[in-house]
Order: sequence, then structure tokens, then C-alpha cells
Amino acid sequence: MPRLSKHLGGPNIYVKRDDCTGLASGGNKTRKLEYSMAAALEEGADTIITVGAVQSNHVRQTAAAACKLGLKCEVLLEHRIADPSEYYAGSGNVLLDKIFGANLREYPGGTDFDKAMTEVADEVSANGGNPYIIPGGASNKIGALGYVNCAIELLGQIEEQGLDISHIVTATGSAGTQGGLIVGLKAMESTIPLLGIGVNIPQQDQEEKVFKLACETAEYIGKAGCVAREDVVANCNYVGDGYGVPTESMNEAVLMLARTEGLLFDPVYSGKGLAGMIDLIRNGTLNDGNIVFLHTGGSAALFAYADQLHT
Ligand SMILES: *Cc1c(COP(=O)(O)O)cnc(C)c1O
Repeated sequence: MPRLSKHLGGPNIYVKRDDCTGLASGGNKTRKLEYSMAAALEEGADTIITVGAVQSNHVRQTAAAACKLGLKCEVLLEHRIADPSEYYAGSGNVLLDKIFGANLREYPGGTDFDKAMTEVADEVSANGGNPYIIPGGASNKIGALGYVNCAIELLGQIEEQGLDISHIVTATGSAGTQGGLIVGLKAMESTIPLLGIGVNIPQQDQEEKVFKLACETAEYIGKAGCVAREDVVANCNYVGDGYGVPTESMNEAVLMLARTEGLLFDPVYSGKGLAGMIDLIRNGTLNDGNIVFLHTGGSAALFAYADQLHT
């Protein structure tokens, strides 16, 4: 991203375009679903059950993947935002979920979704269906394989292009992206540090969550122990007032990337991830070398924030 790099006057910044994964406007969940959906098909499922926030990118990509594979999709939508606008409640991802014909069920924030999804699965079974539950963000050891694979792909591209990358930065939430990436990087014996910018919970909790999933994933691919606790680094200073609540720095980052590179990011994840990267460049923490920012997608959610983004 030469114009962004020049604008910030620090390191050379590259972008890995996982917003272009091809399914229903793209995003990181598509890579995970490649594995989660394969597991569902292997078990003979005819109905996918999953969960996410009202503006979940994961739900949108799962609903689209279910269509492509001829499966039904039952969605549990969590109301995580207080007093949502009409845009948040009806536009962006949730509109796309409806276009894909997913059956949407709404639940209050803080619901026990393991229990709620099991109940929906029982209902599907009682009606003669064969349900398969994909957890939020497809962040289990199966979904995380998508990002083990992404790390291998990225290292190949870095080598092919003869780049010397000093950091990989990405947004981190339900942990499958960062967890899978760190397993892939370590399994390939890469020493490039990976930084997750949190969008939700505090640093310690986020790092523990990613590390736990990384350990399970590493074991699953026969590389148990390849990730050390200190390989998992998250910076959660850019969350602001909470998950999905806009921040000034996110707003600035979304406009900056649009106006320097013609790229769209999102208000909930990649915009806050960028805000973190930009601030760390400006304050001298990430001040030299070559950075790859992994773009996890999500621009469909921009429309849900039509009344909150300052342009
Ligand atoms: C889900 C999501 C993330 C976070 O990925 P996790 O694997 O949940 O940590 C980042 N960016 C976007 C756009 C997402 O939809």
C-alpha cells in the first residue's frame, strides 16, 4: 500500500486481501468455512447451525456457504449492541443473511449459546433433519485450519516476492484467525512476529483464548507444542467503549484507507485493527521494516453504521 505507507511516513505496509475470498463479499470466515463445511458434509449434515452478532460477517458467509452447498442454515443472532439504529438492525450483513434465506432467530446479549444451539439442533433432529453446529466465528480447531493454510500461503507469497517482513498485523476476535495463523507460522518455522489487535475483551483474556485454540489446533495437525505462550501477542488498547461501538481512531482509519488506497475496511474489526496499526506506527512501536496487514474483510457492515460514521 504505497500511498498509505507514504502518508504515514514509516514502514512499507502491504495488505493481504482476505476481503477477497470470494463468497458473498468475502472475508476471513470463508477460509475457516472451507474446513467447517467440509466437516459438516462428511457427517452428512443437511442443516448448519451457527451464531453471531446481528452484524456478524461470520453469519453472512456461513449463510452463503450453506446456499452454495445446498444446506439449510439456522442462525442465532445475538443482540450485543444497546439501542441499535435501524441501519444496524436491518441493513448490512443482516440484510444479506435474509437474502441468503437463512432462518434468523434473535436472542438477548449474554445468552448461553452452547445451550441455545444444542436446543436448536435437537429441534432440527426432531423434525428429521441432520444438524451440524459451527461455533461463533467458526473458531474451533477445524475452522482454524483455514488460517494455518493462510499462513502457509502468505509465507509462500512473501518468499516469492522476495520481501523481508518484520510484522504481520491483523484484527483478532473469536481467535481462529490469530490462532490458526500462529500455528501455521510456527509449524513452518517462521520467525515473523504476529500481532493481533483486539476488538472485544482485555489483552490477557484475548491472548489466553488465542493460545488455547492455537494449542488445540497445533495438536490437531500433529505439531503439538509448536506455539509458545509468548508467541501469542494481542494489543487490546483500541477497543474503545466495546465490541461494535465505533471509535474516532477507527473512523479515521477507515477514511484513510479508502482515500489513500481505495480500499474498504469495516467498523467492528478491520477498522479497529488498522487504527491500532496506525497508532503503533505513529508512536514509534512499529516504526521500520515491512508490515503485512491481513485484511479480514467486513465492509458489508459499513452500511449498518451509516448514521455513525463521519465522512
Ligand atoms: C470475525 C472477524 C475478525 C476476527 O477474526 P476471528 O477469527 O474471529 O478472531 C476480523 N475481521 C473481520 C472482518 C471479521 O469478520
